[in-house]
Amino acid sequence: MAANWKMNLSLDEARDLLNGIKSAKIDFNKVEVLVAPPFTTLQLANELLAGTDILIAGQNMHWGSKGAFTGEISPLMLKEAGCSHVILGHSERRALFFETSETVNQKADAAIEAGLIPIVCIGETLKEREEKKTFDVIRTQLNKSLKTSCKLGNLPQSVILAYEPVWAIGTGKTATPEVAQEVHLFIRRWLIENFDHNTGETIRILYGGSVKPDNIKELMLQPDIDGALIGGASLKTDSFLSITKF
Ligand code: PEP
Repeated sequence: MAANWKMNLSLDEARDLLNGIKSAKIDFNKVEVLVAPPFTTLQLANELLAGTDILIAGQNMHWGSKGAFTGEISPLMLKEAGCSHVILGHSERRALFFETSETVNQKADAAIEAGLIPIVCIGETLKEREEKKTFDVIRTQLNKSLKTSCKLGNLPQSVILAYEPVWAIGTGKTATPEVAQEVHLFIRRWLIENFDHNTGETIRILYGGSVKPDNIKELMLQPDIDGALIGGASLKTDSFLSITKF
């Protein structure tokens, strides 16, 4: 269960939320829990979560290792700040900051090279869904965002994919479990076609888009939904913890 805090929470608010999650009884044999705070909160998260099983992710990064890239952050910087994972290609980055699948591929390569686990996000807009282009869009995003791995014919099994229909993010409109499952199964078949059966079975595919305590159970009952990327509902201790106990 991955919490994407986006550009939210002051240090005091973050401290309260992290302490709340940390003191809860979570069965880490059943669920992996990850928080993705803003960059300025990573150090606090690293200090407070030290010695726990809760993982930390960056929300974005640059593909280079260092240099004149004002405003950017490198894979190594994320690692030094305690991150094991990094979210890449979130639809807000694609739509608002003009990130493309080509740069997502560069970032995914750099993350893998640096020993960070990328959480690669893909998803169609409402217009694309209404025009019945969902599967084409998802296929193209996967082909381009994981281009290097496709060429090599090898995708590290730790890589995580997140299907986030853009029309369901922050809108309160969750994809029905059946609609989400249909796309997750498509993604799994794409993995099998492009890599191998084992990769298709092993890679975790998260669903994201208005996940809440009252819809997580149904979503997690779907055979190809392995977890969730949660925005709004991850900002409150009670709702996030209740999602982790689906
Ligand atoms: C997200 O930011 O990845 C997300 C799914 O947001 P929300 O849960 O608020 O829809």
